[in-house]
Amino acid sequence: MVDLKGQYEHIKEQVNTSVLDVIESTAFINGPEVQEFQKELEAYLGVKHVIPCANGTDALQIAMMGLGLQPGDEVITADFTFAATVEVIALLQLTPVLVDVDPVNFNVDIEAIKKAITPKTKAIVPVHLFGLAANMDAIMELAKEHNLYVIEDNAQGIGANYTSKDGTKIKTGGIGHVGSTSFFPSKNLGCYGDGGAIFTNDDELAHTLRGIVNHGMYVRYHHDVVGVNSRLDSIQAAVLRAKLPHLDAYNAARRNAARKYSQAFNGVEGIIVPTGFCDTGNCICDVCDCHVFHQYTLRITQADRDALVKHLNEHDIPCGVYYPIPLHLQKAYADDRYNEADFSVTNQLVKEVISLPMHTELDDEQIDFITETVIKFVSK
Ligand SMILES: *Cc1c(COP(=O)(O)O)cnc(C)c1O
Repeated sequence: MVDLKGQYEHIKEQVNTSVLDVIESTAFINGPEVQEFQKELEAYLGVKHVIPCANGTDALQIAMMGLGLQPGDEVITADFTFAATVEVIALLQLTPVLVDVDPVNFNVDIEAIKKAITPKTKAIVPVHLFGLAANMDAIMELAKEHNLYVIEDNAQGIGANYTSKDGTKIKTGGIGHVGSTSFFPSKNLGCYGDGGAIFTNDDELAHTLRGIVNHGMYVRYHHDVVGVNSRLDSIQAAVLRAKLPHLDAYNAARRNAARKYSQAFNGVEGIIVPTGFCDTGNCICDVCDCHVFHQYTLRITQADRDALVKHLNEHDIPCGVYYPIPLHLQKAYADDRYNEADFSVTNQLVKEVISLPMHTELDDEQIDFITETVIKFVSK
């Protein structure tokens, strides 16, 4: 699904030198590399504060802790996403409220959010799923109207540009009150282990978050709030510093591969290609950068999706099903409050979706082989 080795070959010298420098310096925790990376990511994202932490799940949890959400507060998020999002809501004894997604962009459905808002609702967590920016204009408007926090789960969307109604472009993760991301190796900006970060433009919240990630300490050995131990290793920061300057090129390579996939699938019955959004329909144009294709995900509407997975595996083509089970049907998160009729899109998508190999090193020959194999199977 990903080719981390191929990507490493291109940046090997710099990564090796930087990592060795960290080892020589022995500044393993919160060393200068972490601070430099923080500044460089702030500049890249155009966000005032980046707070590095240990992983993307912690980033979400710490964001919610920093906002002071209380047990029983309701937090709305998508039924169709990775479990980390709902996991931290439940862990903090907040009440997860899962809602359906949009069949075209796979992101949280705005009408479903509206229906789910109650007097107890305190926050919305949009996920920029598969790398495509959620409809942030509508979400921020709803949040303002109902006095809610917006926490962007940007684990899959780093580098994506959201174009708002007035035409301004802004990087995802810096639009809501707080945002989070993951540097898990296979993410668009991945390190060589675990890593994550929280983003905010709010000075006071940033200060709170910096304490929470470090045992609730603002002054050494003075613990003002309950915190956690969640820090980004200096070695991981060194890897990320080597990769960040390439992020736009990496994302462009992903979009380029996505465009080739979609061109090959164009007009094939029984395959729905992912939308590129941009409010112009199915655009995966050269200039459009609102989708960074963390995953390239098809809907297989006529053939048997599971049989296709098996067929691709038999032809040594990796593929993935993200996600096979809606969160509201997972044992840990099932709840009598939920009504099946409210999840018709997610219930359908879990049967149809398949993600093809997507990374920065895909070449034309690989794409041709993959698309031909898929098309042959679907059309038979
Ligand atoms: C990967 C991911 C996370 C969690 O990140 P980790 O670094 O693995 O903890 C959270 N949300 C989404 C949508 C993700 O894809």
